[in-house]
Amino acid sequence: MHDFNRRNFLKVAGISSAAALTGIGCAANGMRGAEKAHIVVVGGGSGGATTAKYIKQFSPDMRVTLIEPNATYYTCYGSNWVIGGFAGMDDIAQGYDTLRDEYGIEIIEDRVTAVDADARSVRLSGGDRVSYDKLVMSPGIDFRYDDMPGISESDAERIPHAWKAGSQTELLRSQLQDMPNGGVFVMVAPPNPFRCPPGPYERVSLVANYFKQEKPRSKIIILDPKDGFSKQGLFEEGWAEHYGDMIEWRAGSSGGRAEEIDVSNMTVLADSGFERVRADVLNFIPAQRAGQIAHDVGLTNDAGWVPVDQLTFKSEMDDNIYVLGDASVAGAMPKSGHSANNQGKIVAAAIVRELAGQEPINPSSANTCYSLVTPDYAVSVAAVYQYQDGAMAGVSGAGGVSPSGASTSFRRREAEYTRAWYNGITHDIWG
Ligand SMILES: Cc1cc2nc3c(=O)[nH]c(=O)nc-3n(C[C@H](O)[C@H](O)[C@H](O)COP(=O)(O)OP(=O)(O)OC[C@H]3O[C@@H](n4cnc5c(N)ncnc54)[C@H](O)[C@@H]3O)c2cc1C
Repeated sequence: MHDFNRRNFLKVAGISSAAALTGIGCAANGMRGAEKAHIVVVGGGSGGATTAKYIKQFSPDMRVTLIEPNATYYTCYGSNWVIGGFAGMDDIAQGYDTLRDEYGIEIIEDRVTAVDADARSVRLSGGDRVSYDKLVMSPGIDFRYDDMPGISESDAERIPHAWKAGSQTELLRSQLQDMPNGGVFVMVAPPNPFRCPPGPYERVSLVANYFKQEKPRSKIIILDPKDGFSKQGLFEEGWAEHYGDMIEWRAGSSGGRAEEIDVSNMTVLADSGFERVRADVLNFIPAQRAGQIAHDVGLTNDAGWVPVDQLTFKSEMDDNIYVLGDASVAGAMPKSGHSANNQGKIVAAAIVRELAGQEPINPSSANTCYSLVTPDYAVSVAAVYQYQDGAMAGVSGAGGVSPSGASTSFRRREAEYTRAWYNGITHDIWG
């Protein structure tokens, strides 16, 4: 791991994105005939909304339609703050007014149920069809409940995943509020790859912060199929400093692997069947795969994700469909909102350039993941990526992680950067 080196990170990310934008500007200026092309974007989350907005920025006369079933999008980023009780749902709510009114993007509030790739049209849940010249899909994730015996998707009302923000976030929060002091919160963490690698560990941190204030006799157990996790040393340092032994993390090879969930008794069978772990509140985060529509359209591989040409995020299965964000296979880039946002700009540039008859550019992209350990104590990881030898690869020497043993004021500053990052990225996507 590299030391956190913000100057290097900014140098690499900044130079490359400026170069990319210059190239895109030329493309848009040089493009006339394709200006009337119709781009349809499925999914108004981090990846889809970014793509729609940046196509309009690069080529304002191009027609862009964004199809999303929900009028309000709740960001998963910040949802752990709600679960921890120091932010409200309004703080993580985003809408589509600016994209519609200021960028001229047509918003259709509906779900895409099918794609006819030959006819180049999508079907909506009501039966209407929308034609496209290029289709962009950023449908996020769905869950593999089949991988865990004893539990199914219909149990999510009793045992929330809270891994898609919205009513699930509120449900987990209210269960924690109802839990008695001295209760046990059990999280079953997902196997790789999954959305937001540090997310489960930020969540338990902020639940511990709530327990420390309101229910200090309570306990947290993480049953993890993995033997390590993102920013592990930094999280464990923060847990020891703030929460003593309240949080117990069990690695996959040390009894952490959940084998079965008994929903009615709220127990998890773990440690190869040798232990039944009883929960007062159980947060089962299932294994994941690309959003269902990507499977329905036939874009996924055997592992359940969408292989793409990582230079442009064009699907390997169809020349007119681009897939980005969590659903895609994106080399070393983690499944994060920051990655999806960066990929949205790559896709927007690739489409505008392709329609102008130009070759794709090879921009750098970046990811930063901030995690709060308390509301005033954060740790982060940052990396820069570039397309090399057919895949998005980390640029060596760029990025890094927060140092261990940092001062209270350093951690506090990172907590301020966390909130600034939230405001910045949501403005870049929906603002
Ligand atoms: C607890 C938690 C904390 C996180 N914290 C961070 C963080 O701090 N930083 C960070 O960078 N990332 C974070 N993430 C990850 C981030 O939320 C995701 O990686 C990101 O949202 C992925 O963007 P996406 O566009 O692929 O999917 P989403 O943002 O999930 O968007 C998918 C959209 O597609 C829509 N959709 C799906 N199917 C259809 C269909 N058939 N028709 C029409 N629309 C459809 C959905 O309604 C949804 O709005 C966190 C995630 C979690 C769970």
